[in-house]
Amino acid sequence: MSKPTRIRCPICQRENDFFAEPVGPFCSNRCKMVDLGKWLGEEYRVSEPLRPDHFAGYEDMPDADLDRPE
Ligand SMILES: [Zn+2]
Repeated sequence: MSKPTRIRCPICQRENDFFAEPVGPFCSNRCKMVDLGKWLGEEYRVSEPLRPDHFAGYEDMPDADLDRPE
């Protein structure tokens, strides 16, 4: 007989045989969502939203003049 795999939940540090649960390695769906939120938060920090000054250089492109009335 092998011992049940006991690990510690990475979110709340509670120890249990979490791999028996569908939400493993987390102890609960709540901790799973907390971990997911941390990953998403990381992503939001990396990719900044587009701002108008990102397009500032395009105003000086020659092609832009074609769309302007004389
Ligand atoms: Zn937990």
